[in-house]
Amino acid sequence: MKKEGNYFVRPGVIEGFAGPMMSGKTGKLIQRVDPLRWMNGRFSYMGFKPRVDDRNFNSRSERDFIKWNYIKKPEEIISISKEYDLIAIDEIQFFGKNIVDVVLELQKQEKNIIFSGLDLDFRGEPFGSMPELMAIANEFEKLHSVCTKCGDPAYYTQRLINGEPAHYNSPLISIEGESEYTARCFRHHEVPGKP
Ligand SMILES: [Zn+2]
Repeated sequence: MKKEGNYFVRPGVIEGFAGPMMSGKTGKLIQRVDPLRWMNGRFSYMGFKPRVDDRNFNSRSERDFIKWNYIKKPEEIISISKEYDLIAIDEIQFFGKNIVDVVLELQKQEKNIIFSGLDLDFRGEPFGSMPELMAIANEFEKLHSVCTKCGDPAYYTQRLINGEPAHYNSPLISIEGESEYTARCFRHHEVPGKP
C-alpha cells in the first residue's frame, strides 16, 4: 500500500541539511516542517534530538512548534515514530553509528525524514555518521556561516577554550560551558596539533 503524500510530505524520502555552527541548519529544518502546521493535522510530525547531557532535556525555544524528544539511543526513534508521517532529527551528528540503520528503517516505513547536523567536527574532519547520512540522503543542502575574523563564507566550526583555539587532541564532545564555538573560513580555522 502506497502512502499518501504531497509537496511537503514525501513518503520514503530522506532530506538533509549540514554546515558549521551558526549556519542556520536547525532553522532550515524547522522552516521545512513549518507548512505542516497549516494543514489541519492532515499530516503528523515529530522531532528528535540527541540527549547529550541532562541539561538540554528541557530546553525548548519559542519558535519551536515541533515537539522535540531528547533521546539517547537512535533505536528509540523507531518506536516513538510509528504514528507519524514526517520525522525531523536535529543535531544528528551526535547519534551513534546505528543512526544510519534507523534512518533507513524509517524510510522503509515510508516516513519522510528530515535531518540536520554538523558535517565537520571542530578539527575539520567528518563528524560521526555524517558521511553515510549525507550519502543516503535523497536531497541534501550544505549551508555556511560567516567567518568571525574576516567576514568570508565560513565552512568550519572553530572551538575556543578560554579564547584560544582548541588543540586537535581535545575531546570531540566537550562539556557545555567549557568551550565556545564560532564559525570560520578555511584560512582562519585554527587547530593546533592537526597532522
Ligand atoms: Zn576568515
